[in-house]
Amino acid sequence: MPFSVEFNPPRDAAAEARLWRAVRQFERMHPAFVSMTYGAGGSTRDRTVRVTGELAQETTLLPVAHLTAVEHSLSELRSLVGSYADSGIRNILVLRGDPPGDPLGEWQQHPEGVAYAEELVRIVRDLGDFHVGVASFPQGHHRSPDLDSDTAFLAAKLRAGAEYSITQMFFDVEHYLRLRDRIAKFDPIEGAKPIIPELMPITSLRTVARAEELCGRALPASVLERLNKAAGDTPEDNQAAVREVGIEIATEMAQRLIDEGAPCLHFITLNFAKATTEVLTNLGYGVTAAPISA
Ligand code: FAD
Repeated sequence: MPFSVEFNPPRDAAAEARLWRAVRQFERMHPAFVSMTYGAGGSTRDRTVRVTGELAQETTLLPVAHLTAVEHSLSELRSLVGSYADSGIRNILVLRGDPPGDPLGEWQQHPEGVAYAEELVRIVRDLGDFHVGVASFPQGHHRSPDLDSDTAFLAAKLRAGAEYSITQMFFDVEHYLRLRDRIAKFDPIEGAKPIIPELMPITSLRTVARAEELCGRALPASVLERLNKAAGDTPEDNQAAVREVGIEIATEMAQRLIDEGAPCLHFITLNFAKATTEVLTNLGYGVTAAPISA
């Protein structure tokens, strides 16, 4: 079963050095691909494009560049795709993105931009020989009126030319399996395209808050119960126990996904290699003997 990892554009030189340590550690483990998120504002966006280009040119990894429609005109979007292509990037995860500042705020389409990811998929496909992926949502996107329309919109993105989807992170494998069943029933052809599950190993109670923010949902009560039990009354003294349980939960989820035939395991790393590596080691993946420092 292949695995892949997600990185974020680094904020400064120290963060960039840390990212590259993680990149080199993962490189030895041969992930199927590595993806780089696209930030909400100017300088982070420039860094995404630059660093993803460096991943293409200076590593043996296969980079997947995220691209969002937020605050971009069509000509800017086309030129961004051109910049990716110039660095040898042929794999793009096409997203609409969230409103900058408040992800739950009102979505504003750029006057010369696109309204939905589906349109951007068509544009990228028309620009050249790109492999395109899109986002899918095991519990439905928070703006979708219901799961049926959410499924129809996902099918439309796939029909527009996306070859696979990567899910929003989740903490109950049943949600992933239900998404897979929904899309297969709605459109057997598009539903047969790979749905790559996204996992984030919890390493602290702070990561719980981050996970809930990123997926816009509360973690399942059973997961919170296990983490809180490990934290006890003095979480600051029990950080190692919380981390151990977080890794255990991610390992259990990953094993179930492998047993259920998921096409690949995609890990959110926050630019650290250690937690993901531990999960992979628990699963029996061959990992280099080189020391892991991040
Ligand atoms: P869309 O597919 O356009 O959907 C947006 C909303 O509109 C949904 O509610 C959908 O149901 C609805 N909709 C779609 N089509 C139609 C239609 N024809 N008519 C009416 N309604 C419709 N964000 C970033 O800013 N940067 C990133 O790098 C990033 N990476 C991500 C990676 C993954 C794997 C995932 C799952 C999400 C990522 N996001 C990222 C977050 C993502 O941009 C947001 O979740 C965003 O709100 C939805 O993007 P989308 O591409 O699914 O949008």
